[in-house]
Amino acid sequence: MKFAQLNDQTILLTPATYNRIAAWRSEGDHLRCPACQAPLRLMAGISFEPYFAHPENSECAWKELDQPPDEWLAAASAEAAAAVESEEEAVKIGSFRLPKKRAITDTDSTPPADPPLYRKRLVPKQTIQHLSEKQAEPLHPAQKQAVLTTEGPLLILAGAGSGKTRVMTARTAYLIRDRGVDPRTIMVVTFTTKAAEEIKQRIGQQLPARQARELVAGTFHSIFYRMLLHHQPERWEQGRLLKKDWQKWRLLRETGALAGHEELLALKEGEVEEALGVISRWKNEYLLPHEMIERDLKSEVEKHAQQLYPLYEAAKRKHGWFDFDDMLIGCYELLREHEAIRTRYQERIRYVMIDEFQDINRIQYETVKLLAAPQNNLCVIGDDDQSIYGFRGSDPQYILGFTADFPDAQTITLEVNYRSRSSIVGLGYSLIGNNRTRWNKACKTFHQEEGETYLFYPDDEEEQASRIVDEITHQLKLGASCGEFAILYRTHESARPILERLTEARIPFHFTQEEESFYDRQTVRWVLGYLRLSLHHDDSAALKEILPTLYISQETWNTLRSQAILDDVPILHVLPKLPQWKVYQRKHLQKVVDILTECRNCTPVQALELIYEDCRLREYLKKRRKERSDTAHERGSDELQQLLAAAKRHATVEAFLRHMEDMSQKEKEWRKQQPLSGEAVHVLSIHRAKGLEFDHVFLPDLVEGALPHEYALDEVRKRGWSALEEERRLLYVAITRARHTLSIGIPQERFGRKTRPSRFVAEMGR
Ligand code: ATP
Ligand code: MG
Repeated sequence: MKFAQLNDQTILLTPATYNRIAAWRSEGDHLRCPACQAPLRLMAGISFEPYFAHPENSECAWKELDQPPDEWLAAASAEAAAAVESEEEAVKIGSFRLPKKRAITDTDSTPPADPPLYRKRLVPKQTIQHLSEKQAEPLHPAQKQAVLTTEGPLLILAGAGSGKTRVMTARTAYLIRDRGVDPRTIMVVTFTTKAAEEIKQRIGQQLPARQARELVAGTFHSIFYRMLLHHQPERWEQGRLLKKDWQKWRLLRETGALAGHEELLALKEGEVEEALGVISRWKNEYLLPHEMIERDLKSEVEKHAQQLYPLYEAAKRKHGWFDFDDMLIGCYELLREHEAIRTRYQERIRYVMIDEFQDINRIQYETVKLLAAPQNNLCVIGDDDQSIYGFRGSDPQYILGFTADFPDAQTITLEVNYRSRSSIVGLGYSLIGNNRTRWNKACKTFHQEEGETYLFYPDDEEEQASRIVDEITHQLKLGASCGEFAILYRTHESARPILERLTEARIPFHFTQEEESFYDRQTVRWVLGYLRLSLHHDDSAALKEILPTLYISQETWNTLRSQAILDDVPILHVLPKLPQWKVYQRKHLQKVVDILTECRNCTPVQALELIYEDCRLREYLKKRRKERSDTAHERGSDELQQLLAAAKRHATVEAFLRHMEDMSQKEKEWRKQQPLSGEAVHVLSIHRAKGLEFDHVFLPDLVEGALPHEYALDEVRKRGWSALEEERRLLYVAITRARHTLSIGIPQERFGRKTRPSRFVAEMGR
């Protein structure tokens, strides 16, 4: 149905009113069918024109209508009603006025002269030829050749979806089944846990379970760690692993390792994190402290890292801790320095295969070379266009230089993309062709069908999430299953609204959360504290939460509480009354109380505006950021904006708070129960999606600053291109995960700021 009743108006879904969809969504139960009065759900996805859906099992005679019947329309004068636009004044809330330019409200619905297109087909710049010859075999001749070439070094260099991983699994099965090789002598390595699971599952389909289990298969870290535990269990006990940067920093400070290094002790948290990142990259490149200390380094971060590096290593050694990078170095040194152990492994491991070889770093490569010697049955498989772990020291030069390291290596290239429909392949190739440092590949597509590639332009990140989830809901109704869908994001902020909408729609999803929960972040807790206090002036926990933002010490909270009990008034009311306040302080605190009192009568968006500006929360965050320069506070202002965008969907402060508390609770529940077993939508970062494939892929936030990421744009401003090339490779990886459809979201606003479409959109399509 294309119309609905909203209060006493009839609203119509036409291209001219599509820009009001986001506002109408927040009306919830107020959207009704004029005939049967059932609540309607506004469905606005991507591949279909928006409509209002009746509840399931509804038998309403109007439910498929595009227009209300004429006689009814005449009576209701629907057209006039739909066109009503309320001209907005400056918003006045109690004694506080929000100037119109500051009011980010859901009532600002004047349609633009040119309503944005609901969706747009993205046609690749480059068309790709289809494979003309018929194929009866399960492997293409080039793939078959790769399977049969088992002895000596072999490089398989080919584009995404060309069957590299398929070749690796077929080759493993061939070695075991046809050549009688013992599975325990074959080592199969890849980079992410997900990719390793995928490979084990694919191999499991071709071999008896026992044989598949006996293979030495997994990620570098898992395989190397098993070796270390076997030979030096006491040194590598799991409990001594430093996983997070804050653990490393604590070790350095609490063991007195930095004594006498005042300049290091004075570093801000963010600077330490950056320096630790540099140290990690050096370790992956096997650059040891004594080498680095002699280098003439230019940047501040590198200079900090240079000083910190030997101290960090010494502290770890002294107290028996280790980090992830130590596992790689430890394994390499174990093999290099203990001839007996090395020989044992070299005799045991006869065949080594490495998938995603473009992401190898020096320390991993050196270790692999030791393991594969002397027979060098080393098969490396990869695509230089998919190298996306530069920040961990990986370098596509290793794959491109493989034949120089092993002059007798054979090279096989695969030219047919078997995964994706042709326009998806076309977009990928059009895009990656813009990179300068790459090995150019020929490409054909196996599939004749074009596939579907859409751009869509939601108002903001919240509406984008609704569109994606409506699309999935619509497809599920048509018979699709959850596991066919994946949402791939560049940075974590893109995931939160999507997870919220999936939760509300009760669609199961797979998601591995490693970051701190959005709802638990300090800035978010402060904002919610203010809102809670506005509804309940006696919420002493909420007041305690926000005290730092008012420059009041936590100790004062006890005084406030006892005073509130003595006077028998809500704790918020005592806030301005303490005798110790200076005049200006008392005045501001009284203002905060007045604002929070007014907030009860506001929409959540208006309430947030008042809290950010008039209670000066935004100013407080800015000051704090200057003092601390840690990443958590860098993102504080983005979090304020994300909350604003989320608040737009709710009519009252109470409803918004309920939503946030509900989501926070649900998040805790699904964090506990992940990983889900069974069919579920995949929500994962592009980095983790490597090697995987899905029927339908959504890419949210294809805007400048998100993808390409802001840090790459910074480098471009300084005329550096390598970070931008890595971002392009990331998008190439994302696009090439899709088999049938690819939907790219370009929100018009993100974090409350106007956006520009990613430069990559114009590079790949028309
Ligand atoms: P990526 O670079 O993304 O890791 P890849 O090169 O490893 O991709 P695969 O995952 O092995 O590609 O293959 C992509 C898809 O194409 C898989 O679904 C695979 O089963 C299918 N495929 C590969 N080769 C053939 C073939 N010869 N015939 C039919 N399907 C094939
Ligand atoms: Mg692969």
